[in-house]
Amino acid sequence: MLPFCVEPNADADFWAASKEVTFESQTVRVLDPADQLLHICAHGAAWDIIAPVRWIPDAVAVLQGAPRINWERLLLQTRRRKVTLLVRGALNYINQTLGALVPADVLREINRLDVSIFEKSNSSIKDMAAVTLERERRTVQEIEGALKRIKSGEYGLCASCDKPIPDARLKALPCARVCVRCAEQGSGSRSNGLTAD
Ligand SMILES: [Zn+2]
Repeated sequence: MLPFCVEPNADADFWAASKEVTFESQTVRVLDPADQLLHICAHGAAWDIIAPVRWIPDAVAVLQGAPRINWERLLLQTRRRKVTLLVRGALNYINQTLGALVPADVLREINRLDVSIFEKSNSSIKDMAAVTLERERRTVQEIEGALKRIKSGEYGLCASCDKPIPDARLKALPCARVCVRCAEQGSGSRSNGLTAD
């Protein structure tokens, strides 16, 4: 059920705690709300670094829909399945952005849990992915900025000295906002000269 818990019977206790319900004349098994929440948090946060919008509503639906979440079970399963960082991140995120849906003592407890080496190494891979995404996000921003300047007729003019940016520079750096001279005179921290300051 969790992508990184692949040992035999990894899902056995999920099923053991699940309940049979009838939905439109079909009998289906639904997870215990605590397991469902664990699944959403671990899954959503692990595979969906870009769009929390996709897992947050699911988590909130469980939090608000379940009569009572068995938080001890959630904490136990989190530890057993070594998804502390993911569930911790998800629950903290929910409480920071949506208000106190998760009880304070549960958050305190999960923030205190030890994190296994296995999980730490997994998370550094995730950090690298986040860095790549951040870089891509900035590129998209630069492109959007260039498109805006095309619309307003400012494209190709140096944002610092107002002189036209030579074609060769625009070919190499289509999103350049300043000419080479202004880029060099700028703070120096941005060698690509995409910004004037
Ligand atoms: Zn200039």
